[in-house]
Amino acid sequence: MAEGAELIFYYGPMGAGKSTFALQTQFNQQQQGRVGMLVTKQDRSGGALVTSRIGLEAEANLLDDDTDLYTLVSKRHEECALDFVICDEAQFLTPLQVEQLARVVDAQSVDVFAFGLLTDFRSTLFPGAARLVEIADEVHRMQSIVLCWCGRPGFLNARIVDGLVIRSGEVVAIGDTQAGPVMYRALCRKHYVEGRTER
Ligand SMILES: [Zn+2]
Repeated sequence: MAEGAELIFYYGPMGAGKSTFALQTQFNQQQQGRVGMLVTKQDRSGGALVTSRIGLEAEANLLDDDTDLYTLVSKRHEECALDFVICDEAQFLTPLQVEQLARVVDAQSVDVFAFGLLTDFRSTLFPGAARLVEIADEVHRMQSIVLCWCGRPGFLNARIVDGLVIRSGEVVAIGDTQAGPVMYRALCRKHYVEGRTER
């Protein structure tokens, strides 16, 4: 059975394909006949979906800060004997919600796969990501194909407003890597520090 369930955290910069990988993981698990549940917080679609930039999407339970994840997952587990939970946008979890996920693993023997960013645009840990690093069974930096414009791995998420790298302000500002007033771009550490977004 599900002896030795684990809490596993995969992190990567924006544009690394985390949501794509989350949905791929769900697919692979289902192919093995395992029953799962998908949860997310503030998906780019704004709805109860996990969506990926390459067009995949799946229905998900949308969490807010007050959601008790242990209660939510336990209820579903009673109904349909869950094998796994996938949590996208895990950086937005509160530390308490991360602990609730750990309790799901330990008390219900359900595997939890969490996907998210490690650091915000100030290059500091999101509280949820920090708690995951602290208590997850496994932590993996996603093999990143995201490169800074200079060709180095771009693992820091720069917030760009009117062409300038911004390092203070609200932690959550909705934007994407494509275009808009608030943009995010993955930069290497050197160019993050210099604030250089192009050659
Ligand atoms: Zn660079």
